[in-house]
Amino acid sequence: MAVMAFLLVLGGLRAVQAQPATSTAKTAVDPARAQVQWSERELAYLQSRGPIRMCVAPDWMPIEGIDRDGGYTGMAADFIRLMIRRGGLNVQLVRTRTWDESFALGQRRQCDIFSLLMDSPSRRSFLDFTTPYLEIPGVIATSVNVPFVANLEQVRGKRLGHMRGFAGIELLRQSHPGIQLIPVDSYEEGLTKVQDGELYGFIGNMMSVGRALQENKIYDVKIAGRIGHDNLMSVATRNDQPVLRDVFQKLVDTITPAERQDIMNRWIAVRFEEGFDYRRFWQIFGVFALVGVVTLFWATKLRRLNAELRAANSRLAETSRRDGLTGLYNRMHFDEIVVPTLHLCARNALTMTLAIIDLDRFKDINDTYGHPFGDACLRHVAAVLRKSFRRDSDTAVRYGGEELIVISVGGTPPEMIERLEAFRREIEQSLVALDSRQSRLTLSIGVWSAIPDVHDDPMQLLKLADAALYRAKREGRNRLAVAGDAVSQVSSQGA
Ligand code: GH3
Ligand code: MG
Ligand code: MG
Repeated sequence: MAVMAFLLVLGGLRAVQAQPATSTAKTAVDPARAQVQWSERELAYLQSRGPIRMCVAPDWMPIEGIDRDGGYTGMAADFIRLMIRRGGLNVQLVRTRTWDESFALGQRRQCDIFSLLMDSPSRRSFLDFTTPYLEIPGVIATSVNVPFVANLEQVRGKRLGHMRGFAGIELLRQSHPGIQLIPVDSYEEGLTKVQDGELYGFIGNMMSVGRALQENKIYDVKIAGRIGHDNLMSVATRNDQPVLRDVFQKLVDTITPAERQDIMNRWIAVRFEEGFDYRRFWQIFGVFALVGVVTLFWATKLRRLNAELRAANSRLAETSRRDGLTGLYNRMHFDEIVVPTLHLCARNALTMTLAIIDLDRFKDINDTYGHPFGDACLRHVAAVLRKSFRRDSDTAVRYGGEELIVISVGGTPPEMIERLEAFRREIEQSLVALDSRQSRLTLSIGVWSAIPDVHDDPMQLLKLADAALYRAKREGRNRLAVAGDAVSQVSSQGA
């Protein structure tokens, strides 16, 4: 392994600068290109040595990485390029395949600097650190079912994965002795293990976790919270050449907040655009749309069903108040309205009219023409009655058999009597036909019409009307008789 890594170093030295790889630069600096003022000591050091060899994390995008062509790329690469240009430095990338490999090379002094490294006590044994130039938020990723993780105490005792070899873990272990830290070799491995439930969570930096979730299309793992340990990243330099740290500290100090923001934005913006997962978007959109459509469908269906139910109920209520043969209101309805109608009239000094209508010699009609013809007669009478008494204040009722009732509010008794007379005449003059049969028919009417007293018993008034009807029958039928003592009230038109 060590031998292989060494061979890689020999074969993988590569210029980071925009200069061609065939650069003939022999020393670490080209003073003519330097924009910073190097001290004599620094210049002496840089001119006394060859190109500065730099190790990086080869697979840590978008923070840094080595691309397929062996080029150094990522956020840190942009910072380093800025520093190299300012310093007129000659830096060569040591191409490796894994972070462990890079780290081991650093320990063996086969690279002079690490582009981006977190300061830690154990690393101080062989490295110096500049002040941090890049801050990377530390996060914990968990299954989407886990609620927000506010701090690491919340996940004490749970198995948490982390990238093998990264320094933040050392600090975490010290500050949270209760947590179980399990190293993995890649973000993909860690996040997949979270997905499978093998790990409760995975600790990493926000940018890499976000990118790994997108690239590996892991949809059931989310960033559940920040871990309070933001990775403060510095340039690390070999500690046996302390001038190297001064060189890079001077360069780190030249980075303005605007430049820092610009680089961060460039990578985060690019990552966002490139990484925008349309498949994921449409999946989520699809689910929402489906839920929406289903909800709408049910709401609409429910509304329609409710409307149908209401209509059916009111039809049922109406049906229970209607007579099947004639369509007039039935006795039940009459019984319900008669008392309130009486009270309404009594309180408001309105005329209440109760008229009982009975078909004359109806038995004979049935016997002569048959029961169906008798039914046709009843329907005919009902139709004429409905037409004659269709005001809101009129209610036409089939009280039973061939007895009909009109109950009406308002008008004067003479007006009401005239309306009933008109109805009686219309029946008298009409012809009922069914199939080949036809016949005339008449009816008699008994009327009670007056302003009632609130203490009147409606059934008593009905009896009075019935008595009038009886009188009309007795006096020759096809006539109307008004309840009361005076015989003169009978309006009679002889048959
Ligand atoms: P009156 O003039 O004295 O009233 O003579 P009437 O023949 O009408 O005598 P009554 O009132 O006693 O007879 C009622 C008849 O009405 C008896 C029954 O055959 C008939 N009837 C009652 N309900 C119906 C019905 O729904 N359909 C038919 N076709 N006839 C009915
Ligand atoms: Mg009768
Ligand atoms: Mg009759």
